[in-house]
Amino acid sequence: MRRAAITSSAPTPPLTVTDLKQWAYCARIPYYRHVMPVDFVRTFSMERGRLIQAAVETLETRRSFKRYGLERGERRFGTWLYSPSLNLSGKIDLLILHERGCHLVDFKHTDGGVRYNHRIQLAAYALLVQETLARKVTRAFVYLVPSRQLSGVSIGTREKDAVRWAAAEIRNCIRREELPARTAARSRCIGCEFRNYCGDIW
Ligand code: SF4
Repeated sequence: MRRAAITSSAPTPPLTVTDLKQWAYCARIPYYRHVMPVDFVRTFSMERGRLIQAAVETLETRRSFKRYGLERGERRFGTWLYSPSLNLSGKIDLLILHERGCHLVDFKHTDGGVRYNHRIQLAAYALLVQETLARKVTRAFVYLVPSRQLSGVSIGTREKDAVRWAAAEIRNCIRREELPARTAARSRCIGCEFRNYCGDIW
C-alpha cells in the first residue's frame, strides 16, 4: 500500500464519505468541490438515484432479515455519522443493528456491479461506525437496484488503509491547491457533472 506524504498531523479540512467515493472515481472531483467550488449540473442519474432510494426504503421496511443472514435486527435508514478523529462524516443508507454488531447496506443504481469506489465508500462507513457507535461491522452489502441483487462486500484492513490513504491524498491536494491528474478511464468523463471544467480532455 502506498503512503501519502501527510503534511500535517491534524486531519483537516473536513471531508465526507462522498469525497472519498468520488476521489476513487476521479481525483479531480474533490478538487472541484473543495478548492475551486463550481456550479455543476445535477445529472438525471443522480435525481433518479434519489427516487430509487426512496422506493427501496419503502420496500425494505416490509421484508425480513433473512437475505442479510440475520434472524432479527433493527433497521435505521439515512444515519448521519461524524468522527472527530477522522474529521469525516457520512450518511449510511441502511444500518442493521443486531446483537453481534451491525450490517451496512448501500443502494446503487448501476448496471455495472460493485466497483472499487463503492468498496471505498463502505470501508469509510465501517470506520465511522467503529469510531462513533463502537460497534463491530459484521457484514457490508451493495444493493444493486436495477437487478435487485444484493452483493456482499469484503471490508478488511486493506480497505480501511485505502480509506485513510485516500483522505490524506485529498487533504494534500486541497492544501496545495493542485489540480490532480484526470481519470485514466475516459468513459467516466462522458456523464460527469464537472466535464465543463476539464478543458484538457475534450
Ligand atoms: S470530466 Fe473526467 S477528468 Fe474531469 S472531473 Fe469528470 S471524470 Fe474527472
